[in-house]
Order: sequence, then structure tokens, then C-alpha cells
Amino acid sequence: MTRRALGTLLGLAATTACGDIANPIRLDFYEWRLIVPAVPGPGNDSLSFHWPRNRLPVRIWVEDAASLRDNIPTAIGAWRQAFLYGEFDAVVVSDSQTADVVVRAGAAPGIEFSRMRLHSALAPECAGATDLDISDDQTQLELPIRIYVDPRSGPTAPGLPECLALTTTHEVGHALGIWRHSGVATDLMFSDPAVTAPSARDLETAEVIYHLTPNVEVAGP
Ligand SMILES: [Zn+2]
Repeated sequence: MTRRALGTLLGLAATTACGDIANPIRLDFYEWRLIVPAVPGPGNDSLSFHWPRNRLPVRIWVEDAASLRDNIPTAIGAWRQAFLYGEFDAVVVSDSQTADVVVRAGAAPGIEFSRMRLHSALAPECAGATDLDISDDQTQLELPIRIYVDPRSGPTAPGLPECLALTTTHEVGHALGIWRHSGVATDLMFSDPAVTAPSARDLETAEVIYHLTPNVEVAGP
């Protein structure tokens, strides 16, 4: 397992954005696939993922922290509206051992399990990260996905509640399948988002993902 730095991904995302500007047709969605170096075998270099129907609702366990308690249900609701037919749904569960997604407050630990990390360096008030553990042949996602939402400053810092809320929704966006950052600052999936809810482009992107066949699937039964 090797970790990949986000800098590479941001560079690629910026390239895509420039291409979009040159295109006279405005696209309502953006590149969501995680671009990685190709490996021999079945793995692809453009990794796409969505939760299959038979894994819904996705089970999310949330550490009992004041900064998370209300934000995860809000985040689930914010993304659910992208889907007319229930293509994605999630619930908060009480057992972390069987959860599909584990959300913790605080900084992400070092490198013990992470293969690919998507994170947002937001305002000084808080930060978020999503860790995806992907098999070496790049076809399987090992669960759980781990999300970290880190209030980097004290609880009375100005703007902290808003930062925690939007960061949580951003990271849940990664967990549902947006494995890359938008190049547009008005999207919630921008690397350093400022908006508080998914934009129309974010929602359109999520919808597109769930209507295409992914090349990464959940490992195991
Ligand atoms: Zn991110």
C-alpha cells in the first residue's frame, strides 16, 4: 500500500478545469474519477465508484462528538436530494465494526491504512479528509471508508460550526463516489470549498456517477 498525495490530484483537476473553459458547451458536471498510475492487470487508471443498490442504505458510524452529531444527517440529506430514485441513501448506525463508513472527529492519523486520501484544506478553522483503501490491482474498495473532520481550533472560533458542517458534507460527497475535486470554487467539492451545500453541478455529478458502471467495487460479500 502506498499513499498518494493530494497535490497530484489537484494538478489534474486544474487541467480539466482549463479544458472545460475552452469548451463552448458548458458542462453541468465535472470529472469525478480518481486518476492514478495504471497497474498491470484489470485495474484502470481512472477509478470510478458508486455504491451498488444491494449495499444501500450505506451504514455510517459517527463518533459521538459535538462537532459531528448533527452534521452527518444534514450531509446525508444534502446529497440525497440529487437522486430521484433513491440511487444513494445512507443511515447512521450504532455499530462501528459493521459500518461502511466511519466518521471521526480530529486529525487523520498517519499512514497505517490509507492508500488514497482526498482532503480539503479549508479555512484555518477546520479540515477534513477521506481515506479510501483500494486494492493493489485498483478494482476493489476495502471498507470502511474513513472520514475525518478536524476542528483545528477551539470550539469558539468564529465560523467553526459552518466550517464543520460544510466539511462534513464535502467528505460525504467523497464517500458516495466523487473521488476528485471540482475545479470551480462555487462547488462544494472544490478543494477548498466556501459554499455550504452541494451546488447544482455537484448534484448533477453525483447523479451521473450513479448512472454509469463503476470500475471499482466494494470488496467482499
Ligand atoms: Zn475533498
